[in-house]
Amino acid sequence: ENRDNYQVLTQNGEISAEVTGKFLYGSDEKGRFPKVGDWVVLTIIPDEKKALIHEILPRKTFISRKVAGTRYEEQVMATNLDYLFIVHGMDHGINFKKIERYIAMSLTGGCRPVVILNKSDLVDSDSLDITDLTNRFGGHPVILTSVKPQKGLEDLKKIISTGKTITLVGPSGVGKSSLINCLTGRESQFTREVREKDHKGRHTTTKREMILMPAGGILIDTPGIRELHLWDSDDGLEDTFQDIYELVPQCHFNDCRHETEKGCAVLLAVEKGSISPEHHQNYLKLQKEQEYLEQKQNEQMHNRKKRWKAINKAIKTYYKVDPKGKGR
Ligand code: GDP
Ligand code: ZN
Repeated sequence: ENRDNYQVLTQNGEISAEVTGKFLYGSDEKGRFPKVGDWVVLTIIPDEKKALIHEILPRKTFISRKVAGTRYEEQVMATNLDYLFIVHGMDHGINFKKIERYIAMSLTGGCRPVVILNKSDLVDSDSLDITDLTNRFGGHPVILTSVKPQKGLEDLKKIISTGKTITLVGPSGVGKSSLINCLTGRESQFTREVREKDHKGRHTTTKREMILMPAGGILIDTPGIRELHLWDSDDGLEDTFQDIYELVPQCHFNDCRHETEKGCAVLLAVEKGSISPEHHQNYLKLQKEQEYLEQKQNEQMHNRKKRWKAINKAIKTYYKVDPKGKGR
């Protein structure tokens, strides 16, 4: 995605493309414009070495963020991702809440989350129970990595197999660029600008936001995603309730809600006075809000699945494959 055009990969190579006038004036929502990862319907104008984009094919998945200031408007950052690599740096322990939020974002857009615990060289990784962590993150895969010495990268490469599209998210400094460089075996992709002549013979610079992996997968790396700070305003809350989060593993029941349960470590602390009743009540309030949000996200996920089913059905109807395997 450049300022006023797009780089599109076709079976005949890369070409720069613009949306048609009809597309431009017919679209009132921002989300309707092509985003990195989209499949589009286009016509190529051979003499001008450019193309016109008419339509965007329905998106299988997406990742988006809330637009600052508005509650429900979302800005689509990338589309058609199979996996979202959630990168976390182990140098400051594991921030469960933060990772869980990224997981929720991933599921909201229909992408499969993979939790990547990077900088594992800085901790005693033998003491980490991966099965336990996987369960803690709702059964989504957890992979320990480090860039120096290289560890876990082969597991990541396996996921970015032929036909799969992935992107990396996570706070700055966790090692996303380092991982991308190792995975692609190239110099920093993000800063690599390609100078090429446009159709009028001018030199233009374009940014590579989509990297074709040697093994066949696609890695999406955009500044927007890199700089994606999710729910930053909530992070204060997280610190506020650190004392409670620390007690949770000691509760008798794994699914303890810290309301009335027997053997609840949080309730015990309230009883003993080390946690004030007001603090406890505030925590319960936040818990309810988060559950409401998760329920909303699950509903959205359900609706998207339904829509995707309809798309598949439509494709099957339109392209009935005959016994010789030729499309119609
Ligand atoms: P980004 O902001 O997420 O893209 O993070 P970078 O890739 O720029 O890495 C931030 C810093 O962490 C750099 O100084 C890296 O050298 C360092 N780093 C990245 N991966 C690892 C790792 O696996 N182990 C250690 N010890 N340092 C790492
Ligand atoms: Zn409890």
